[in-house]
Amino acid sequence: RQQRYRSLRDVASRTRDGLSIGLQVNAGLLVDLPQLVESGAGGIGLFRTELQFMVASTMPRAGDQERLYRAVLDSAGERPVTFRTLDVGGDKLLPYLAHGAEENPALGYRAMRLALDRPGLLRTQLRALLKAASGGRLRIMFPMITDVAELKAARGFLQRELEHLDRFGYPRPVDVKVGAMLEVPSLIFQLDPLMQDLDFVSIGSNDLFQFFFAVDRGNANVATRYDDLSAPFLRALRTVVRAGERHKVPVSLCGEMAGRPLSAMALIGLGFRDISMAPPSIGPVKSMLLALDAGALADELRAFLDDPQQAGSARPLLRDFAERH
Ligand code: PEP
Ligand code: MG
Repeated sequence: RQQRYRSLRDVASRTRDGLSIGLQVNAGLLVDLPQLVESGAGGIGLFRTELQFMVASTMPRAGDQERLYRAVLDSAGERPVTFRTLDVGGDKLLPYLAHGAEENPALGYRAMRLALDRPGLLRTQLRALLKAASGGRLRIMFPMITDVAELKAARGFLQRELEHLDRFGYPRPVDVKVGAMLEVPSLIFQLDPLMQDLDFVSIGSNDLFQFFFAVDRGNANVATRYDDLSAPFLRALRTVVRAGERHKVPVSLCGEMAGRPLSAMALIGLGFRDISMAPPSIGPVKSMLLALDAGALADELRAFLDDPQQAGSARPLLRDFAERH
């Protein structure tokens, strides 16, 4: 099977009925980079910058950050890389940063909440990203955005760092795209103003699922209790995809469900045209989509989700569809 997946590497990722689907990889360290080329992925859809911070025993310096980002961009070449700014706190603690005890860390002082209150770290990181991409292209994404004001505040810091580059004579990147991770349900109810203020959205389905069903993603007793292919969750995802279509804002998804072939199939049926996953999933997901009649699936899934009485899981429907095709 590995052999077969390898042979798919240079095959275009297109469904049987001709839809092009972007398959990207999630990465976070230099050792991940060879897998970008080996997997045949179109780019890095999620670069988790906190990993450099988590494996270090002291805070990585600005120069270290810039060097890593430049190495990532160099090795990606023409392929796009989406850098997520530091997503720490919650389950990702840094030993050299005082986090303070929290009753509910997942709901606590983490990611952008921390970054916006103590912007020194964020500003250093944004500056390192901008310098690394000087003269090139840059995609930046902010994690755990909960309301539009946070995105505006983050953009304000980015703007200041762009001006800093000008002042010190560094060429700006030729293009900077700004996105938000959608992983807190509140964003689903402010999609219009959100989409007017950014270039792309990436759904972090791991956290979105956790907050949607109120299940701790790390607690085995509850984590598998609810289904990410259930009607309510798929409807939530569909709402985001439709808002993206209305605003012509690309919507991608980079949680673990993108790497499971049946879930990836559901995502394409919902209208996703770009998903990002762990590198070993690229082969199995591509193999699925080469055989997929996305139009037929979209019709069946729409009928299921449009039925207001439907509260169950689409998993049986999806399995049955996969068997019939
Ligand atoms: C997510 O929440 O789905 C996500 C991709 O981010 P992380 O798993 O790093 O929290
Ligand atoms: Mg997340």
